[in-house]
Amino acid sequence: MGIKKTFNNLKYRAGMGNCSEYIDLIHDVVDNQSTPAQEEYLRRHLKLCLKCLDELNLEKELKKAIQLKLVNQEVPAGLAESIKNKIQKSSS
Ligand SMILES: [Zn+2]
Repeated sequence: MGIKKTFNNLKYRAGMGNCSEYIDLIHDVVDNQSTPAQEEYLRRHLKLCLKCLDELNLEKELKKAIQLKLVNQEVPAGLAESIKNKIQKSSS
């Protein structure tokens, strides 16, 4: 007991956890619900995993598309502007 847990911790610290573990994190990052530590943790994995990098880019594009659609429909101009700024900040 303990060895497996230690191994998992090492694995995650190296950014090599199971991809399914990162999908929720990707959603949190895209929704700005993540902590800087979590983003760092995800970034480390993305250096090793194109699959999750694609997933992150896809989620970002999807979120942008949804927000732009909302903006174009019925959001007042001032609010639309602030959402756009938020998007620009989060994608930089
Ligand atoms: Zn992955």
